[in-house]
Amino acid sequence: MTDLRCNSQRLWNAHTAMAVFGATPSGGVGRLALTDEDRQARDLFVTWAREAGCEIRIDGVGNIFARRAGTNPAAAPVMTGSHLDTQPLGGRFDGIFGVLAGLEAVRALNDADVHHEKPIDIVCWTDEEGSRFGDGCLGSSAFTGGRTLAETLAMTDADGLSVGSELQRIGYAGPEPVGGYAVDSFFEVHIEQGPILENAGLQIGAVEGAQAATVYEITITGEEGHAGTLPMTLRKDAMRGAAEMIHRVDDVAFEFEPYPVITVGHVRVRPNSRNTIPGQVVFTIDSRHPDTETLAAAGARMVAICEEVSNTQGLGLSINVKGHRDSVAFDTQCIQAVRDAANALGIPHMDIYSGAGHDAIYLARTCPAGMIFVPCEDGISHNEAENARPEDLAAGTDVLMHALLARAGRV
Ligand SMILES: [Zn+2]
Repeated sequence: MTDLRCNSQRLWNAHTAMAVFGATPSGGVGRLALTDEDRQARDLFVTWAREAGCEIRIDGVGNIFARRAGTNPAAAPVMTGSHLDTQPLGGRFDGIFGVLAGLEAVRALNDADVHHEKPIDIVCWTDEEGSRFGDGCLGSSAFTGGRTLAETLAMTDADGLSVGSELQRIGYAGPEPVGGYAVDSFFEVHIEQGPILENAGLQIGAVEGAQAATVYEITITGEEGHAGTLPMTLRKDAMRGAAEMIHRVDDVAFEFEPYPVITVGHVRVRPNSRNTIPGQVVFTIDSRHPDTETLAAAGARMVAICEEVSNTQGLGLSINVKGHRDSVAFDTQCIQAVRDAANALGIPHMDIYSGAGHDAIYLARTCPAGMIFVPCEDGISHNEAENARPEDLAAGTDVLMHALLARAGRV
């Protein structure tokens, strides 16, 4: 039954309608979690899902579940979905595509009057991006026991507003328990957010897993002093130490094969004044690699470099590991279900690794999980210019729909 396809135009129109909520002047979307814009997107999704015949449930952390019933109501659900929130200056496809693909799959199954044994749930996970409350994947993490509901609700944003109070305010503090029940499997379709599929000229990536990631915070302490009066030979300039560390830490990537990705993206300087020698510099290192042990080896090299530089320059140093996750391998049957669906549809595909974090990585802790990637233009994401082709979104949705049907047991 590979003639069963989604409606590409309807899928595209749904993206256009959703992109209104939080639209930025440059054509992107800024829709932070639990804002009025997030509420508007949630409301429209719920309306559409109800119109498609789905039953809606909302849990205590605001995750939305829209269920297309199966013939066996007692069966554990097959889930699909992603997130509605974006970065402050994000795009029109990151996250929302995974939600709208699930919705379009249900609409297409309705059109074709196709039924399945297990229920299919379309999920909107709360706050995947982590731009507002300090950490990402709040909804999927709470659902899979990574963080308790109480801890999640108590998290606050820069204005001191909590997840719990903001959920109440937008009307999405739901009555359903958070997780704690069996899930048959979870599939998430997402734009790749990188250039690999586009460069390969392929529409589908069967995602094998996600990279290990470690984030370090490096604090260098020197001595503040007058930029005009303190001779160069007497200085303890924290910025000079930071500059050498940052340059050499970046080069560590090229000591390993395949390369890890290493990014210093955040720097704070004290007092951050033109004519004062910096007394303290704090910077972060975001490091990722598909293999946890290789990443640890790269981390040890970076730590050794920072220690060497601080010793040579007579600077104070402290290194904190701010976050770590091991690499995640997705379920072999779920990966195969994606490949099989693409083969049946005649869509060329490749296996690929995820460089980014996703809700599916959390779901993989508690149920068989897999992901489907489609290309995005020039690999650009977390950017207002983020773009994807309608035909690629449709291909990803078709593969998702057939993988869901295979898992849910077509009747
Ligand atoms: Zn995303």
